[in-house]
Amino acid sequence: METEFIPFSLPSIGEEEINEVVDTLRSGWLTTGPKTRQFEEEFAQYVGVKHAIAINSATAGLHLSLEALGISEGDKVVTTTYTFTATAEVVRYLGADPVFVDVDPITANIDIEKLAGVLEKIEGIKAIIPVHFAGQSCELDKITQLAKKYSVGVVEDSAHAFPATYNGKKIGTFSEATVFSFYANKTITTGEGGMITTDNDALAERVRVMRLHGINRDVFNRYHSRKPAWYYEVVAPGFKYNLTDIAASIGIHQLRKAEALRNRREQIAQVYNEAFKDLPLELPRNVRETDVHSWHLYVVRIKANPRDISRDRFIELLAEKNIGSSVHFIPLHLQPYWRDHYGLNSSDFPVAQGIYESAVSLPNFADMTDVQVNRVISAVREIFESCS
Ligand SMILES: *Cc1c(COP(=O)(O)O)cnc(C)c1O
Repeated sequence: METEFIPFSLPSIGEEEINEVVDTLRSGWLTTGPKTRQFEEEFAQYVGVKHAIAINSATAGLHLSLEALGISEGDKVVTTTYTFTATAEVVRYLGADPVFVDVDPITANIDIEKLAGVLEKIEGIKAIIPVHFAGQSCELDKITQLAKKYSVGVVEDSAHAFPATYNGKKIGTFSEATVFSFYANKTITTGEGGMITTDNDALAERVRVMRLHGINRDVFNRYHSRKPAWYYEVVAPGFKYNLTDIAASIGIHQLRKAEALRNRREQIAQVYNEAFKDLPLELPRNVRETDVHSWHLYVVRIKANPRDISRDRFIELLAEKNIGSSVHFIPLHLQPYWRDHYGLNSSDFPVAQGIYESAVSLPNFADMTDVQVNRVISAVREIFESCS
């Protein structure tokens, strides 16, 4: 019997997104312009922040934010080992060096005591990049306190956390800069894309200039201001990080659906948690009930079990049942570049190492049908229950 493959993730694209893209394609303006401006305005309004600046990836957004904070050669930036390589690579773009710390055993977010330890011990740290793993916000009050105490900047890697809150306030309103991702499998998507939010006018200005070649007016402005249309000034060797209006067209409608998509993912997570509670799995939960968790990822951890099923075997068995899954993350201390360049050892990151060895991300996306959710549940239960 053929069963349909259930992917680990799938974007939710409706007729609204398709029609908006078609409208843009027919409009004659494809690159950064009115649709990007609209997306930025609506995003800023939703988050409740002064500036939302669209870029073509979260990686670009992290790079621009650190650049605007003045991070440069010889500086150090703290982040965790339990993240995607983009979080750390942007530090290298600027000639600075990441300092990796271990994570909290429940949330896989940065371990606050270890963060305090490196801020106290290591000279030259200029910024912290907390990562809101899976969509659970970090302890931003403690991070903000530490940042103040040691006079370092904070750039949040919020690639997973949209929409999400901390202490009742939306993620995107806390730090010098917060960076969201609209990569294809993220909570909302533009195919590729991202957004920086900030209340800091100077940082916003620098990011806007540097996202487009260091030109002091963006292309749209150039055609709508009193100066002659052909005139522009280059004030720095900037980057090419602007979002297209084609992508923004998708984003405008994804933003409007963001809460509905999140609600469905949370509901799926709750159904999974109920169905798996007697299995040898450590289940994800929202550690602060009053906070909105984006549920970008639903990550279980395989515990010791009678059939001795390892994480790798579990993934193979799911694949045999035509169910996709993934691992978030292979920690950076295991990646050849980071490991060798900085001489990192697993023994320095015991918590991240332990999570990595047992973690599996199960399918959780808004368009999953109840039938698909039940197929995942049956498959997972069969793997642990079958006595063969
Ligand atoms: C996806 C992701 C990024 C990079 O996002 P892009 O938009 O693809 O550049 C950065 N950090 C984390 C934690 C991510 O999961």
